[in-house]
Amino acid sequence: MQLSSRVTALAESATIAVSSRAARMKREGVDVVAFGAGEPDFDTPDPITSVAKSALDAGKTKYAPAYGLPEAREAVCVKLKRDNNLTYTPDQTIITCGGKEAIYLALAALVNPGDEVILPVPYWVSFPEMIRLCGGVVREIRPASRDFKIQPGELRAALSPRTRAFIFNSPSNPGGFTYTPDETRALADVLRDNSAVIIADEIYDQLAFGGFRPLSMASIDADMYARTITCNAASKSYAMTGWRVGYAAGPRPAIDAMSRLQSHTTSGPCTFNQLAMAAALAGDQATVAPMRNEFAQRGAHMHARLCKLRNVQCAAPTGAFYCFPRVCDTYARLQVGDSVAFADIALDRAHVAVVPGSAFGSDDHVRLSFATSMEQIDKGIDRLASLLGTA
Ligand code: PLP
Repeated sequence: MQLSSRVTALAESATIAVSSRAARMKREGVDVVAFGAGEPDFDTPDPITSVAKSALDAGKTKYAPAYGLPEAREAVCVKLKRDNNLTYTPDQTIITCGGKEAIYLALAALVNPGDEVILPVPYWVSFPEMIRLCGGVVREIRPASRDFKIQPGELRAALSPRTRAFIFNSPSNPGGFTYTPDETRALADVLRDNSAVIIADEIYDQLAFGGFRPLSMASIDADMYARTITCNAASKSYAMTGWRVGYAAGPRPAIDAMSRLQSHTTSGPCTFNQLAMAAALAGDQATVAPMRNEFAQRGAHMHARLCKLRNVQCAAPTGAFYCFPRVCDTYARLQVGDSVAFADIALDRAHVAVVPGSAFGSDDHVRLSFATSMEQIDKGIDRLASLLGTA
Protein backbone atom coordinates (compact mmCIF):
# COMPACT_ATOMS: atom_id res chain seq x y z
CA MET A 1 0.00 0.00 0.00
CA GLN A 2 1.34 3.41 -0.96
CA LEU A 3 1.47 5.74 2.04
CA SER A 4 1.32 9.52 1.96
CA SER A 5 4.54 11.49 1.91
CA ARG A 6 3.26 13.14 5.08
CA VAL A 7 3.55 9.95 7.12
CA THR A 8 6.52 8.47 5.31
CA ALA A 9 8.55 11.45 6.39
CA LEU A 10 7.41 11.03 9.98
CA ALA A 11 10.28 9.82 12.16
CA GLU A 12 9.57 6.84 14.34
CA SER A 13 9.87 7.75 17.97
CA ALA A 14 13.29 6.74 19.23
CA THR A 15 11.72 6.35 22.64
CA ILE A 16 9.50 3.51 21.53
CA ALA A 17 12.28 1.03 20.76
CA VAL A 18 13.79 1.27 24.24
CA SER A 19 10.49 1.25 26.11
CA SER A 20 9.06 -1.69 24.21
CA ARG A 21 12.28 -3.64 24.75
CA ALA A 22 12.20 -2.77 28.46
CA ALA A 23 8.57 -3.92 28.65
CA ARG A 24 9.46 -7.19 26.92
CA MET A 25 12.35 -7.84 29.32
CA LYS A 26 10.04 -7.18 32.26
CA ARG A 27 7.50 -9.65 30.89
CA GLU A 28 10.31 -12.21 30.64
CA GLY A 29 11.01 -11.71 34.34
CA VAL A 30 14.03 -9.38 34.17
CA ASP A 31 14.12 -6.86 37.01
CA VAL A 32 14.31 -3.68 34.90
CA VAL A 33 14.51 -0.26 36.56
CA ALA A 34 12.39 1.98 34.34
CA PHE A 35 13.43 5.62 34.11
CA GLY A 36 11.57 6.05 30.84
CA ALA A 37 8.10 7.03 32.08
CA GLY A 38 6.74 10.41 31.08
CA GLU A 39 3.91 10.27 33.56
CA PRO A 40 3.32 10.56 37.31
CA ASP A 41 3.47 7.27 39.19
CA PHE A 42 0.53 8.40 41.37
CA ASP A 43 -3.09 7.39 40.87
CA THR A 44 -5.62 9.97 39.73
CA PRO A 45 -7.00 11.43 42.99
CA ASP A 46 -10.31 9.92 44.16
CA PRO A 47 -12.37 13.13 44.06
CA ILE A 48 -11.61 13.38 40.33
CA THR A 49 -12.35 9.76 39.46
CA SER A 50 -15.62 9.89 41.38
CA VAL A 51 -16.81 12.82 39.25
CA ALA A 52 -16.25 10.71 36.13
CA LYS A 53 -18.07 7.75 37.69
CA SER A 54 -21.07 9.89 38.65
CA ALA A 55 -21.11 11.48 35.18
CA LEU A 56 -21.23 8.00 33.64
CA ASP A 57 -24.07 7.00 35.96
CA ALA A 58 -25.90 10.20 35.05
CA GLY A 59 -25.67 9.33 31.36
CA LYS A 60 -23.21 12.08 30.39
CA THR A 61 -22.09 9.98 27.48
CA LYS A 62 -23.24 11.94 24.43
CA TYR A 63 -21.48 14.22 21.97
CA ALA A 64 -20.21 17.53 23.29
CA PRO A 65 -19.70 20.76 21.34
CA ALA A 66 -16.42 20.73 19.40
CA TYR A 67 -15.04 23.45 21.70
CA GLY A 68 -15.72 21.24 24.71
CA LEU A 69 -18.32 21.20 27.47
CA PRO A 70 -19.18 24.59 29.02
CA GLU A 71 -18.34 23.24 32.51
CA ALA A 72 -14.84 22.32 31.35
CA ARG A 73 -14.26 25.63 29.56
CA GLU A 74 -15.34 27.55 32.65
CA ALA A 75 -13.02 25.46 34.82
CA VAL A 76 -10.12 26.28 32.48
CA CYS A 77 -10.83 29.99 33.04
CA VAL A 78 -10.85 29.46 36.82
CA LYS A 79 -7.53 27.62 36.67
CA LEU A 80 -5.83 30.14 34.41
CA LYS A 81 -6.93 33.03 36.64
CA ARG A 82 -5.94 31.30 39.89
CA ASP A 83 -2.58 29.86 38.85
CA ASN A 84 -1.42 31.97 35.93
CA ASN A 85 -2.97 35.40 36.45
CA LEU A 86 -4.68 35.09 33.07
CA THR A 87 -8.17 36.37 32.39
CA TYR A 88 -10.04 34.40 29.74
CA THR A 89 -13.70 33.92 28.98
CA PRO A 90 -14.92 30.41 28.11
CA ASP A 91 -15.23 31.36 24.42
CA GLN A 92 -11.46 31.90 24.35
CA THR A 93 -10.83 28.29 25.35
CA ILE A 94 -11.02 24.85 23.79
CA ILE A 95 -10.95 21.41 25.43
CA THR A 96 -8.68 18.99 23.59
CA CYS A 97 -7.59 15.35 23.61
CA GLY A 98 -4.65 15.92 25.96
CA GLY A 99 -2.05 18.65 25.81
CA LYS A 100 -0.67 17.01 22.70
CA GLU A 101 -3.75 17.74 20.62
CA ALA A 102 -3.88 21.33 21.90
CA ILE A 103 -0.39 21.93 20.53
CA TYR A 104 -1.09 20.14 17.27
CA LEU A 105 -4.30 22.10 16.69
CA ALA A 106 -2.49 25.37 17.43
CA LEU A 107 0.25 24.56 14.91
CA ALA A 108 -2.27 23.37 12.32
CA ALA A 109 -4.25 26.58 12.76
CA LEU A 110 -1.17 28.79 12.34
CA VAL A 111 1.47 27.24 10.12
CA ASN A 112 1.52 27.41 6.32
CA PRO A 113 3.97 25.34 4.24
CA GLY A 114 7.43 26.85 4.52
CA ASP A 115 6.70 28.83 7.69
CA GLU A 116 9.40 28.60 10.32
CA VAL A 117 8.69 27.54 13.87
CA ILE A 118 11.38 28.26 16.43
CA LEU A 119 12.12 25.33 18.70
CA PRO A 120 14.73 25.40 21.48
CA VAL A 121 16.79 22.21 21.94
CA PRO A 122 16.28 19.96 23.81
CA TYR A 123 12.63 19.76 22.83
CA TRP A 124 9.74 17.47 23.63
CA VAL A 125 9.83 14.61 21.14
CA SER A 126 6.58 15.43 19.29
CA PHE A 127 7.21 19.13 18.58
CA PRO A 128 9.37 18.78 15.45
CA GLU A 129 7.19 16.07 13.96
CA MET A 130 4.05 18.12 14.53
CA ILE A 131 5.66 21.17 12.92
CA ARG A 132 6.64 19.12 9.88
CA LEU A 133 3.21 17.50 9.66
CA CYS A 134 1.82 21.02 9.29
CA GLY A 135 4.30 21.74 6.49
CA GLY A 136 6.41 23.97 8.73
CA VAL A 137 10.18 24.22 8.94
CA VAL A 138 11.84 23.54 12.28
CA ARG A 139 14.21 26.36 13.25
CA GLU A 140 16.20 24.96 16.16
CA ILE A 141 17.98 27.00 18.79
CA ARG A 142 20.86 25.11 20.33
CA PRO A 143 21.62 27.07 23.48
CA ALA A 144 25.23 27.60 24.43
CA SER A 145 24.41 27.42 28.12
CA ARG A 146 24.87 24.12 29.92
CA ASP A 147 21.55 24.62 31.70
CA PHE A 148 19.83 24.55 28.26
CA LYS A 149 17.93 27.79 28.70
CA ILE A 150 18.07 29.99 25.63
CA GLN A 151 19.37 33.53 25.92
CA PRO A 152 17.51 36.52 24.44
CA GLY A 153 20.29 36.98 21.85
CA GLU A 154 19.89 33.38 20.69
CA LEU A 155 16.17 33.90 20.20
CA ARG A 156 16.80 37.17 18.34
CA ALA A 157 19.23 35.41 15.99
CA ALA A 158 16.66 32.71 15.18
CA LEU A 159 13.89 35.13 14.22
CA SER A 160 13.37 35.78 10.53
CA PRO A 161 10.63 37.20 8.32
CA ARG A 162 9.48 33.60 7.85
CA THR A 163 9.03 32.98 11.59
CA ARG A 164 5.44 32.04 12.29
CA ALA A 165 5.65 30.72 15.83
CA PHE A 166 7.92 30.13 18.79
CA ILE A 167 7.34 27.10 21.02
CA PHE A 168 8.06 27.85 24.66
CA ASN A 169 7.94 24.91 27.07
CA SER A 170 8.73 25.73 30.69
CA PRO A 171 9.12 23.73 32.90
CA SER A 172 10.68 21.60 30.21
CA ASN A 173 10.45 18.04 29.05
CA PRO A 174 13.15 16.67 28.73
CA GLY A 175 15.43 19.32 30.27
CA GLY A 176 13.73 19.53 33.66
CA PHE A 177 14.58 23.26 33.73
CA THR A 178 12.26 26.20 34.35
CA TYR A 179 12.68 29.77 33.14
CA THR A 180 12.49 32.34 35.94
CA PRO A 181 9.96 35.17 35.52
CA ASP A 182 12.80 37.56 34.60
CA GLU A 183 14.18 35.18 31.99
CA THR A 184 10.69 34.78 30.52
CA ARG A 185 10.21 38.56 30.36
CA ALA A 186 13.59 38.95 28.64
CA LEU A 187 12.50 36.54 25.89
CA ALA A 188 9.18 38.36 25.52
CA ASP A 189 11.10 41.62 25.01
CA VAL A 190 12.87 40.08 22.02
CA LEU A 191 9.59 38.84 20.56
CA ARG A 192 8.09 42.32 20.70
CA ASP A 193 9.89 43.36 17.50
CA ASN A 194 8.11 40.82 15.26
CA SER A 195 4.80 39.08 14.83
CA ALA A 196 5.62 35.52 15.90
CA VAL A 197 2.88 33.70 17.75
CA ILE A 198 3.94 32.09 20.99
CA ILE A 199 2.75 28.57 21.64
CA ALA A 200 3.27 28.27 25.38
CA ASP A 201 3.29 24.64 26.48
CA GLU A 202 2.66 24.98 30.22
CA ILE A 203 1.80 21.37 30.90
CA TYR A 204 4.25 21.22 33.84
CA ASP A 205 3.33 24.63 35.28
CA GLN A 206 2.27 23.12 38.61
CA LEU A 207 5.45 21.05 38.83
CA ALA A 208 8.05 23.81 39.20
CA PHE A 209 10.24 23.54 42.27
CA GLY A 210 12.77 26.25 41.96
CA GLY A 211 11.05 28.24 44.69
CA PHE A 212 9.14 30.40 42.21
CA ARG A 213 6.06 30.13 40.06
CA PRO A 214 6.71 30.07 36.34
CA LEU A 215 5.44 33.15 34.55
CA SER A 216 2.95 32.61 31.74
CA MET A 217 4.02 34.35 28.54
CA ALA A 218 0.44 35.50 27.95
CA SER A 219 0.34 37.21 31.35
CA ILE A 220 3.26 39.55 30.65
CA ASP A 221 1.32 42.32 28.91
CA ALA A 222 -1.46 42.99 26.40
CA ASP A 223 0.85 42.38 23.43
CA MET A 224 1.90 38.91 24.64
CA TYR A 225 -1.69 38.12 25.62
CA ALA A 226 -2.86 38.91 22.09
CA ARG A 227 -0.39 36.56 20.42
CA THR A 228 0.05 33.65 22.77
CA ILE A 229 -1.81 30.36 22.68
CA THR A 230 -1.43 28.74 26.08
CA CYS A 231 -1.63 24.95 26.02
CA ASN A 232 -2.00 22.76 29.07
CA ALA A 233 -3.64 19.54 30.27
CA ALA A 234 -4.80 17.63 33.31
CA SER A 235 -2.25 14.92 32.51
CA LYS A 236 0.75 15.79 34.65
CA SER A 237 -0.55 17.94 37.52
CA TYR A 238 -3.44 15.63 38.36
CA ALA A 239 -1.97 12.28 37.29
CA MET A 240 -4.47 11.97 34.44
CA THR A 241 -2.30 10.98 31.47
CA GLY A 242 -4.63 8.22 30.27
CA TRP A 243 -7.77 10.36 30.46
CA ARG A 244 -6.68 12.36 27.41
CA VAL A 245 -7.96 15.77 28.44
CA GLY A 246 -6.19 19.04 27.79
CA TYR A 247 -7.01 22.56 26.76
CA ALA A 248 -5.84 25.74 25.11
CA ALA A 249 -6.67 29.41 25.62
CA GLY A 250 -5.93 32.32 23.34
CA PRO A 251 -7.34 34.82 20.88
CA ARG A 252 -10.80 33.93 19.57
CA PRO A 253 -9.86 33.57 15.87
CA ALA A 254 -7.19 31.00 16.70
CA ILE A 255 -9.42 29.12 19.14
CA ASP A 256 -12.28 29.15 16.61
CA ALA A 257 -9.98 27.74 13.93
CA MET A 258 -8.72 25.05 16.31
CA SER A 259 -12.30 24.13 17.11
CA ARG A 260 -13.19 23.84 13.42
CA LEU A 261 -10.25 21.47 13.02
CA GLN A 262 -11.30 19.50 16.07
CA SER A 263 -14.89 19.28 14.80
CA HIS A 264 -13.66 17.44 11.70
CA THR A 265 -11.11 15.21 13.40
CA THR A 266 -11.57 13.96 16.96
CA SER A 267 -14.75 15.89 17.94
CA GLY A 268 -12.98 16.47 21.24
CA PRO A 269 -12.29 14.31 24.27
CA CYS A 270 -14.65 11.93 26.01
CA THR A 271 -17.41 13.90 27.76
CA PHE A 272 -17.21 12.38 31.23
CA ASN A 273 -13.45 12.92 31.21
CA GLN A 274 -14.04 16.59 30.42
CA LEU A 275 -16.20 16.78 33.55
CA ALA A 276 -13.47 15.08 35.56
CA MET A 277 -10.95 17.61 34.30
CA ALA A 278 -13.34 20.42 35.24
CA ALA A 279 -13.38 19.04 38.79
CA ALA A 280 -9.59 18.73 38.79
CA LEU A 281 -8.98 22.28 37.58
CA ALA A 282 -11.64 24.14 39.54
CA GLY A 283 -11.90 21.91 42.62
CA ASP A 284 -9.76 21.49 45.72
CA GLN A 285 -6.07 21.67 44.81
CA ALA A 286 -4.92 19.75 47.90
CA THR A 287 -3.34 16.90 45.94
CA VAL A 288 -1.09 19.07 43.77
CA ALA A 289 1.44 20.37 46.31
CA PRO A 290 2.25 16.99 47.91
CA MET A 291 2.89 15.54 44.45
CA ARG A 292 5.08 18.52 43.51
CA ASN A 293 7.04 18.22 46.79
CA GLU A 294 7.57 14.53 46.25
CA PHE A 295 8.89 15.14 42.73
CA ALA A 296 11.15 17.92 44.02
CA GLN A 297 12.71 15.61 46.60
CA ARG A 298 13.16 12.76 44.17
CA GLY A 299 14.61 15.11 41.57
CA ALA A 300 17.15 16.53 44.03
CA HIS A 301 18.14 13.02 45.07
CA MET A 302 18.48 11.68 41.53
CA HIS A 303 20.44 14.78 40.50
CA ALA A 304 22.86 14.46 43.44
CA ARG A 305 23.49 10.83 42.61
CA LEU A 306 23.88 11.41 38.87
CA CYS A 307 26.48 14.12 39.52
CA LYS A 308 28.65 11.53 41.27
CA LEU A 309 28.71 9.18 38.29
CA ARG A 310 31.93 8.97 36.38
CA ASN A 311 32.10 11.37 33.41
CA VAL A 312 28.48 12.43 33.82
CA GLN A 313 27.35 16.05 34.21
CA CYS A 314 23.82 17.04 35.08
CA ALA A 315 22.00 20.34 35.56
CA ALA A 316 19.74 20.40 38.64
CA PRO A 317 16.08 19.86 37.70
CA THR A 318 13.81 22.76 38.63
CA GLY A 319 10.60 21.43 37.17
CA ALA A 320 8.70 18.53 35.58
CA PHE A 321 10.08 15.11 36.55
CA TYR A 322 13.17 14.64 34.42
CA CYS A 323 16.94 14.74 34.73
CA PHE A 324 18.78 15.18 31.45
CA PRO A 325 22.41 14.27 32.16
CA ARG A 326 25.20 14.75 29.65
CA VAL A 327 26.67 11.29 29.18
CA CYS A 328 28.73 11.65 25.99
CA ASP A 329 32.01 11.60 27.93
CA THR A 330 31.25 7.97 28.78
CA TYR A 331 30.79 6.89 25.15
CA ALA A 332 34.46 6.09 24.44
CA ARG A 333 34.88 3.90 27.49
CA LEU A 334 31.59 2.09 26.83
CA GLN A 335 32.50 1.84 23.15
CA VAL A 336 29.23 3.36 22.01
CA GLY A 337 28.78 6.05 19.40
CA ASP A 338 25.58 7.77 20.42
CA SER A 339 22.76 8.09 22.95
CA VAL A 340 20.73 5.26 21.39
CA ALA A 341 23.66 2.87 21.83
CA PHE A 342 24.19 4.17 25.38
CA ALA A 343 20.52 3.46 26.19
CA ASP A 344 20.84 -0.02 24.64
CA ILE A 345 23.85 -0.85 26.79
CA ALA A 346 22.22 0.58 29.92
CA LEU A 347 19.26 -1.70 29.30
CA ASP A 348 21.20 -4.81 28.27
CA ARG A 349 23.98 -4.68 30.82
CA ALA A 350 22.55 -2.72 33.74
CA HIS A 351 18.83 -3.41 33.21
CA VAL A 352 18.11 0.30 33.44
CA ALA A 353 15.77 1.91 30.90
CA VAL A 354 16.65 5.49 29.93
CA VAL A 355 15.52 7.47 26.88
CA PRO A 356 18.17 8.45 24.31
CA GLY A 357 18.69 12.21 24.06
CA SER A 358 18.59 12.04 20.27
CA ALA A 359 14.78 11.82 20.59
CA PHE A 360 14.91 15.31 22.05
CA GLY A 361 17.52 16.78 19.70
CA SER A 362 20.64 16.14 21.78
CA ASP A 363 22.71 13.03 21.23
CA ASP A 364 25.04 13.92 24.12
CA HIS A 365 22.35 13.31 26.73
CA VAL A 366 19.85 10.77 28.00
CA ARG A 367 16.61 11.40 29.85
CA LEU A 368 15.79 9.80 33.18
CA SER A 369 12.34 10.24 34.68
CA PHE A 370 12.11 10.48 38.46
CA ALA A 371 8.41 9.68 38.43
CA THR A 372 9.33 6.57 40.35
CA SER A 373 10.14 5.67 43.96
CA MET A 374 13.34 6.65 45.82
CA GLU A 375 14.18 2.94 46.08
CA GLN A 376 13.97 2.53 42.33
CA ILE A 377 16.05 5.68 41.83
CA ASP A 378 18.79 4.35 44.10
CA LYS A 379 18.69 0.89 42.57
CA GLY A 380 18.89 2.25 39.02
CA ILE A 381 21.70 4.71 39.75
CA ASP A 382 23.66 2.03 41.64
CA ARG A 383 23.48 -0.10 38.51
CA LEU A 384 24.54 2.77 36.26
CA ALA A 385 27.45 3.44 38.65
CA SER A 386 28.63 -0.14 38.21
CA LEU A 387 28.23 0.11 34.44
CA LEU A 388 30.22 3.34 34.21
CA GLY A 389 32.90 2.23 36.65
CA THR A 390 34.91 4.33 39.04
CA ALA A 391 37.72 6.76 38.28
N1 PLP B 1 3.96 18.74 26.21
C1 PLP B 1 4.97 18.21 26.88
C2 PLP B 1 6.18 19.04 27.12
C3 PLP B 1 4.91 16.90 27.35
O1 PLP B 1 5.93 16.38 28.05
C4 PLP B 1 3.76 16.13 27.08
C5 PLP B 1 3.67 14.71 27.50
O2 PLP B 1 4.62 14.04 27.78
C6 PLP B 1 2.72 16.73 26.38
C7 PLP B 1 2.85 18.03 25.95
C8 PLP B 1 1.45 15.98 26.03
O3 PLP B 1 0.72 15.66 27.13
P1 PLP B 1 -0.67 14.91 27.03
O4 PLP B 1 -0.43 13.55 27.58
O5 PLP B 1 -1.61 15.73 27.87
O6 PLP B 1 -1.11 14.88 25.62
